[in-house]
Amino acid sequence: MTIDRSLEGNRSYWQETTDLIVPAVPLPARASYVVVGGGIVGSATAYYLAKQGLDVVLIERVHPAHGATGRNGGFIGTGAAEGYAGSIARLGKKAAQHIHELTLLNARLARELITSEGIDCHFREPGTINLSISAQDHADAAASVAARRADGYAGELLDRAALQSMVNTRLGDEIVGASYTPGNALIHSGRLVRGIVDAAIRHGAKLSIATVERIDQRDGHPVVNTDKGSIAAQSVVLGLNAWSRQIAPALNGIITPVRGQILNTAPTKPVFAQGMGTDLTPTGEYWQQTLDGSIVLGGMRAAAANRDENLYDIGITDDVQNALDTVLPRLFPELKGLQITRRWAGLMGFTPDYVPVADAMPDMPGVWAGGGFCGSGMPFGFMVGKYLAQAAVEMRTPAEIAPLSLHRPTLKK
Ligand SMILES: Cc1cc2nc3c(=O)[nH]c(=O)nc-3n(C[C@H](O)[C@H](O)[C@H](O)COP(=O)(O)OP(=O)(O)OC[C@H]3O[C@@H](n4cnc5c(N)ncnc54)[C@H](O)[C@@H]3O)c2cc1C
Repeated sequence: MTIDRSLEGNRSYWQETTDLIVPAVPLPARASYVVVGGGIVGSATAYYLAKQGLDVVLIERVHPAHGATGRNGGFIGTGAAEGYAGSIARLGKKAAQHIHELTLLNARLARELITSEGIDCHFREPGTINLSISAQDHADAAASVAARRADGYAGELLDRAALQSMVNTRLGDEIVGASYTPGNALIHSGRLVRGIVDAAIRHGAKLSIATVERIDQRDGHPVVNTDKGSIAAQSVVLGLNAWSRQIAPALNGIITPVRGQILNTAPTKPVFAQGMGTDLTPTGEYWQQTLDGSIVLGGMRAAAANRDENLYDIGITDDVQNALDTVLPRLFPELKGLQITRRWAGLMGFTPDYVPVADAMPDMPGVWAGGGFCGSGMPFGFMVGKYLAQAAVEMRTPAEIAPLSLHRPTLKK
């Protein structure tokens, strides 16, 4: 497999520290199942299909982990993008609880897949900490923890002293405390995707490098047209997230591309064991320290004039990157002057109600799509892959993912 460098953008820390040249085959003329997109959704879907001994081809246009999955913060959290209390306020208790349960299932699937396939992706489950930087923030954190605990989900409120005992550097004065979600996972995103694709191939899947241009119908079944030829299938699963609307017109106005920018520092002494986040801006900031001591930090979308919404550009910009540079020194005075070794960006997909979509595509018989993770796709990707693999085989959307329906009332164009 050769990499088309014109489609790369700045490479991420994860991409740079993973061999993503995976054995690929020329596009076959047919397969029982075709999966498009080499991120978490596409690789997991292909894995779950291949594991059943089914005939599956995974199509990716650049290399596995080229998209958001290979460019993200490396968190596998739990819960919806808006948080549990926010999700209840928007969707009602029943739907919020159902979605939360789906993300807990996702966490179990992630652990099971990574462990059973022996994937060395630096998987650990230290939990995540969200810093409160004002009294109001801390009151919101307390309400969010209380809402989770009331329904039996994990969550703890940390005062400043308890937080300080978990972070190996002096807290800046504005930090009031934090909420802590035990058990949330961190991973090396490049190694994770490489590992899942390798496992899918071991179970019999094929990988082809091609750009999907359009999906037609022939004799009631989908035909996937690419720049390398066409492939006919019984059913197709799209894991295209930000790019979904380019191939599935029904997702136009439903999944909107939004750029996320991010950087990493040179290795430094161990400071953060947990995944970390806060809201210095309304769009949020997050960071983790990797096993080699580097800190991967993203957010600050609010520093861009249009919050980097509705664009297909994966370049980096000064406004957001300069703002990212201020995060660690502002919160932790001893972390001034860390050297930045890499800066990059990726594309997320946002929906109007901050809940992903995983459903059949109208007017495209035999085609399903999963995407629109609103910057928080890892709590869903394994589970969406598993259920969309099931959908492709049974030719109907499983009832378990009803809250991710394209026809839910909160999802208005
Ligand atoms: C900077 C950043 C930080 C993030 N941090 C986190 C985090 O820490 N935790 C979290 O849960 N979420 C995070 N997210 C969001 C998360 O990464 C995504 O929700 C998730 O990775 C989406 O996975 P996916 O498989 O749906 O899509 P992607 O990973 O984007 O995969 C789509 C793939 O489709 C390919 N493709 C596109 N068009 C075509 C075509 N026409 N033909 C063939 N292939 C095509 C692309 O090359 C790409 O590889 C972050 C996102 C960004 C950008």
